[in-house]
Amino acid sequence: MTQRRKKVAPKFEFEPIGYLESCFKEKFGIPRQSGLATQATGIIKIHDDANLTTALKQLEGFSHIWLIFVFHQTGSERWKPSIRPPRLGGARKVGVLASRSPHRPNPIGLSAVELDRVDLDAKGGPEIHVRGVDLLDGTPILDLKPYIAYADSIPHAKAGWADEPIVRTEVSFSPQAELAVETRSCEFKNLKALIVEILEIDPRPASQKKRMPVGAPLSENTRHGFNLLKYDVKWEIRDGKFLVWDVVDL
Ligand code: SAM
Repeated sequence: MTQRRKKVAPKFEFEPIGYLESCFKEKFGIPRQSGLATQATGIIKIHDDANLTTALKQLEGFSHIWLIFVFHQTGSERWKPSIRPPRLGGARKVGVLASRSPHRPNPIGLSAVELDRVDLDAKGGPEIHVRGVDLLDGTPILDLKPYIAYADSIPHAKAGWADEPIVRTEVSFSPQAELAVETRSCEFKNLKALIVEILEIDPRPASQKKRMPVGAPLSENTRHGFNLLKYDVKWEIRDGKFLVWDVVDL
């Protein structure tokens, strides 16, 4: 019987084609998949290189694109073969390659995002404006490809352990927070809608959600906050719902 041995494989080195300027300045609050927060915007800043500019011609005809990127902020933590997906509340382990965890043998990610517009003549290099991102500010982009529905969309696909429907919690705003988002709407038009999209899927870490589920007396009136764009979003759990009580400048 022949044994499958680990061959001495070549190593591959890639240079990013650019990086993402994202609305998410810290990991807390970033949705766990692209498209979950449709108002989460980003600009892919492509390196100022004539060949890359030519390489982007006709991209604007596509409504969605795939981003292939490096999870550059996974820390020094080594990848583990089994992980506890937050989606399962940290209760069960699955193989890391049966998950979309950032902590994987090669920290490469894949996200489908909506293409807003392409500006080939932007100062400093081409810009690609996208929506529905699940990535941290500064994420290095290795490649991008058009999303082609006839090949990429598989409506009858099974989602294994991730097949459970996403639970959403009601989000409301205090009068103070309403006023705060209203006065900042000239800077970011859909700020309120974006905050709702982030909070309604409960951005807290799985361990915290398990210890303090929404609706449990222990979670009531606990205060939380996260940085989004250039704002600090302050919220709490009240009456089994999420209440945004203020949005202030950082
Ligand atoms: N859609 C991609 C995929 O499947 O490869 C990413 C999914 S991954 C579960 C999304 C999470 O990765 C985010 O919620 C955030 O916590 C984390 N993340 C996003 N950008 C990152 C980066 N540049 N470095 C490390 N972690 C990142």
